[in-house]
Amino acid sequence: MGTLSLPRKVSVLGSTGSIGVSTLDLFEQAQVEVDVVALTAGRNVARLAEQALRWRPALAVLEDESGLPELRERLKGSGIETAAGARAVSDAAAADAQWVMSAIVGFAGLAPTLAAARAGAVIALANKESLVCAGPSLLRTAKLAGGAVVPVDSEHSAIFQVLDPAIADSVSRLILTSSGGPFRDATPDEMAAATPERALAHPNFSMGAKISIDSATMMNKGLEVIEAAYLFSMPPDRIEVLVHPQQIIHSLVEYADGSTLAQLGPPDMRPPIACAFAWPDRLPWPAPKLDLVTAGPLTFQNPDSSRFPALAIAKQALVTGGEAPAAMNAANERAVAAFLDRRIGFLDIPRVVAETLERMDRSSELSSRDGDAVERARGTDAAARRVADAVVSGLCAA
Ligand code: NAD
Ligand code: MG
Repeated sequence: MGTLSLPRKVSVLGSTGSIGVSTLDLFEQAQVEVDVVALTAGRNVARLAEQALRWRPALAVLEDESGLPELRERLKGSGIETAAGARAVSDAAAADAQWVMSAIVGFAGLAPTLAAARAGAVIALANKESLVCAGPSLLRTAKLAGGAVVPVDSEHSAIFQVLDPAIADSVSRLILTSSGGPFRDATPDEMAAATPERALAHPNFSMGAKISIDSATMMNKGLEVIEAAYLFSMPPDRIEVLVHPQQIIHSLVEYADGSTLAQLGPPDMRPPIACAFAWPDRLPWPAPKLDLVTAGPLTFQNPDSSRFPALAIAKQALVTGGEAPAAMNAANERAVAAFLDRRIGFLDIPRVVAETLERMDRSSELSSRDGDAVERARGTDAAARRVADAVVSGLCAA
């Protein structure tokens, strides 16, 4: 085997989450030699401290400032610098790593991801919300600074691996596959009565709570359609979704000549993380390999748009453009939080998102915003959160 040119200085944003833990596990299993510049987390002090003692980053940062004294205490004498607050997370993202895993969940990931982009790092992007809210700006920033954005989301990693940019004009369709989530075969009544516990039980993966609920509503696939449109400069009408319960085929690219290329693998996030880490090389590690004989039959069906309205809402937001995707994302984050707090029902989640977008459209709040793309996304995010919270309160009062 030839010598791989792998990044040496790395940071992991959101290191204590599902993707963050998988990233560090991959480093461990592949026995790569990395110098960890920064590890950052939201509020899980114990896990961040444990990871810091194992990986010896220069910096360990918590978003939640109230956890800083405990973090300091746990890392006393280690020589690891500690900090806390949203600003400190972004500063850590901009520290001198060559490769940055962006795995914070939600809009909170945008500022740190942009900071890493401005610093010219290669960004392994799991935080799809940052692309949805400020995709073109994030991609331009990374490019101008001499870095790149490499997708980690398994569908986009699949497309990234089989789409040859030199012949992107010859692509007729991108086909994103979806597990269909825990309610793939549920009745509308079952969905209406769904508890957070039931909605959090994803069939193939253990993921963070927010993306698990997004998978259950299929808003996750809606966000991914927008993500694909930006990443691969593809018009909305050439992006389709196909339900594939086994999650073996991670997505497909159809070319104009009738040839379709797919990427396959076991349902595991470490291979796409490995791909984003070693790209354009391939990282050798003891990966669980795909066995098509034991994988069983692969099946496919069209998504059910009546039970999963979030898909059409997201496609419409993409077509509307401007601030609509950022508003949709914010409304969804608030609706998911309200569902997890048992304030609204499962089927209310897409209702809150649709109603928020309608109200903002009526009051022209989707079009009349000043500032650069990121300031606009921030303003839209804050405005959409207020409107979505009002819609949620209305539903609770009803
Ligand atoms: P998670 O909830 O397990 O982890 C989120 C991480 O972000 C944690 O480290 C948490 O401490 C940190 N965090 C939370 N709020 C924060 C804040 N305000 N500021 C700073 N840090 C904060 O989520 P996850 O499942 O690992 O997903 C992370 C991202 O990756 C999401 O955008 C998700 O859509 C995307 N993604 C996840 C998967 C998966 O399999 N889990 C697959 C594809 C894409
Ligand atoms: Mg995905």
